[in-house]
Amino acid sequence: MTDKVSIEVIGYIKSCFSEKFGTPRQSGLAPSAEARLRLVEPFNRREMVRGLEEFSHVWIQFLFHQVRAEGWKTTVRPPRLGGNERKGIWATRSPHRPNFMGLSAVQLKHIDFDSGVELVLAGVDLLDGTPVVDIKPYLPSSDSLDEASEGWAGRAFEKLEVEFLPAAVQFCSAYENETGVPLQQLITEILKEDPRPPAQRQKKETFGMRLYDVNVRWQVRAASCRVRSCEKVG
Ligand code: SAM
Repeated sequence: MTDKVSIEVIGYIKSCFSEKFGTPRQSGLAPSAEARLRLVEPFNRREMVRGLEEFSHVWIQFLFHQVRAEGWKTTVRPPRLGGNERKGIWATRSPHRPNFMGLSAVQLKHIDFDSGVELVLAGVDLLDGTPVVDIKPYLPSSDSLDEASEGWAGRAFEKLEVEFLPAAVQFCSAYENETGVPLQQLITEILKEDPRPPAQRQKKETFGMRLYDVNVRWQVRAASCRVRSCEKVG
């Protein structure tokens, strides 16, 4: 018999990622990926964030709410290893873990008090609607360990070159003027990490992902990725 504890959600993420495909595999990989963490009552009192704005980065502890229905696994095949090797769940950062708890170190850009309390974050790997259970300041003096080794996750993998067709460049520039979102930069940061699942890397098809209200479509040839179109969702 295991012990059960009950924890409370302190807030929810509003992010540009509404689907898993395309969401960065780790925080910090797409520095332009912004999100807001909206705190909810009774955890949204102003004094609870007093002093937090002095920190450039924070740890966000959250729930992988969109995989709960799939259940947890004892082993998984990390995409970094090409999907060929299994590792124990405790040796990975996979969402399919008992308790479905995630941990991301993200940039804290500022705290917005305009309506409630919202932390404006960047470099996120979090889906829209993610429930958050804790926030802690990131402390480089204790959280960054020079002597740490990266295990299997340190294995090199090929990054993609990203280029855009002219119409896609035009769309991104107009979108940035309208919304302030550096869309071309954001797409580049995501695609250079090759979000395709290993099993789909041999396919010559067009891939698509949604960012904010934009559908992005691209093709990959060898180590180069071409963004063919960006369109507002209808
Ligand atoms: N940095 C965190 C960690 O190490 O615990 C997350 C790493 S996990 C490999 C990142 C992936 O989790 C993203 O690419 C996305 O597919 C998935 N993800 C993010 N938010 C999620 C959520 N709320 N529910 C389910 N999956 C989520």
